Amino acid sequence: MQLETQTNSDLHRVVIVGGGAGGLELATRLGKSMGRKKKAHITLIDSSRTHVWKPLLHEIAAGSMNPDKHELEYIAQAHWNHFHFRLGRMDGMNRDKKEVYVAPYFDEDIEVIPRRTFKYDTLIIAVGSTTNDFGISGAREHCIALDTQSQAERFHKQLTNALIRAQTQVEPIQAGQLEVVIVGAGATGVELAAELHNTTRELASFGLDKIDPDKDIKISIIEASDRVLPALPPKLSMAVDVELRKLRVHVYAGERVTEVTNKGVYTHSGRFIPSALVVWAAGIKAPDFLKELDGLEVNRINQLVVKRTLQTSNDENVFAFGDCAACPWPGHDENVPPRAQSAHQQASMLVKTVKARVAGKDKLPEYTYRDYGSLVNLGRYSTVGSLMGAIAGGSMYIEGLFARLMYQSLYQMHLMALHGFFAVMLQILARLITRRTEARVKLH
Ligand SMILES: Cc1cc2nc3c(=O)[nH]c(=O)nc-3n(C[C@H](O)[C@H](O)[C@H](O)COP(=O)(O)OP(=O)(O)OC[C@H]3O[C@@H](n4cnc5c(N)ncnc54)[C@H](O)[C@@H]3O)c2cc1C
Repeated sequence: MQLETQTNSDLHRVVIVGGGAGGLELATRLGKSMGRKKKAHITLIDSSRTHVWKPLLHEIAAGSMNPDKHELEYIAQAHWNHFHFRLGRMDGMNRDKKEVYVAPYFDEDIEVIPRRTFKYDTLIIAVGSTTNDFGISGAREHCIALDTQSQAERFHKQLTNALIRAQTQVEPIQAGQLEVVIVGAGATGVELAAELHNTTRELASFGLDKIDPDKDIKISIIEASDRVLPALPPKLSMAVDVELRKLRVHVYAGERVTEVTNKGVYTHSGRFIPSALVVWAAGIKAPDFLKELDGLEVNRINQLVVKRTLQTSNDENVFAFGDCAACPWPGHDENVPPRAQSAHQQASMLVKTVKARVAGKDKLPEYTYRDYGSLVNLGRYSTVGSLMGAIAGGSMYIEGLFARLMYQSLYQMHLMALHGFFAVMLQILARLITRRTEARVKLH
């Protein structure tokens, strides 16, 4: 096993595992402040070479967003912001030796990077979550999850292939041939349904004249609860339900999926919904390897149990945040929700935490989740949401352009944390200009 000798080893070694919505913001901000001034040695480890903000994945899957325009090379971000990037998948650790183990990295079955060990003084785990299929028969084999960019791109490819096949086949389009079923009517499921409604029509309009979208393309959502968006206020659910019905998205509420086959989906009431493509978007869990991380405490969905300082419950040198952490939410029966806005807030706090640890301070900040509300974007059709807390002084229902701008602001905040204000303004301007010479959907 190769030991990575982090240079300047007299410096405090901060190792961040997972460069997603939270981890990349943290690495960038620590690099810009502490890495640049040689006050700490910051290393980010991620299993991918590039970063795409996860809440964009349903747009990539539907084809309304071209990932090439939104992905960021970790190695370049590290170079610009004074941290070190190492490619690889963490698969273990030794807490006594303060070591993190990273599996060998393969490309097309060829080992490119051998197994490595990284030493840390502060370890911060931000490896996100994956879809939870609850072990439903056939779900793993026949459903696509939207956990990674490659899964989203794979879905998009299958969708365009299905449309091209329908266009070019000699026989008439069969019932069910162009049906997409989405399991789970949370924000991801309903947003994906609306995006798919739009992009399949755009795709069909690019010369696929044999396809009649209203007749041939069917989009269904199956939800175990009795309403869409069960975790959000009923008023939001109702507004979204009305919009989905206008788009002729079939909502099967109160139906629990019992089996998925290559022909479609069975539910507990005996219903069978035929499908060419099934997306699983119901529930999350943290990655399985966290269960065996040298005795760190996990909950029933593998999240590392952390205190409000974001230190793991049984090791003060190991922190976790974002989707992979079960962080208490005082005054609530549940933990801090797994959202990009919580990962963003926690990353901001951890910048202060790391500075305090490097300065040798014992008292660390405690995290309080600020819920600014929930926004659901139904593509070009509508955006609805509820604003909470300081902005609205309680809970306020919003929709339309204001809601859309608020929705987009979360991504802009992420980009600003990575690139700064002026670079983001220039990016927005550049996109406004190039939009006129590009198709609104990804055609391949
Ligand atoms: C389609 C979709 C839409 C969403 N929309 C919204 C929204 O509108 N608003 C909102 O607030 N939230 C939304 N979310 C949830 C949001 O994306 C997550 O809460 C957020 O990304 C969590 O951030 P994170 O940093 O914890 O993890 P992630 O952003 O998932 O990043 C985890 C990183 O860890 C890396 N990684 C994983 N395992 C390992 C390993 N073993 N070793 C090394 N690296 C590893 C991954 O490659 C990834 O880069 C959405 C999620 C999805 C899937």
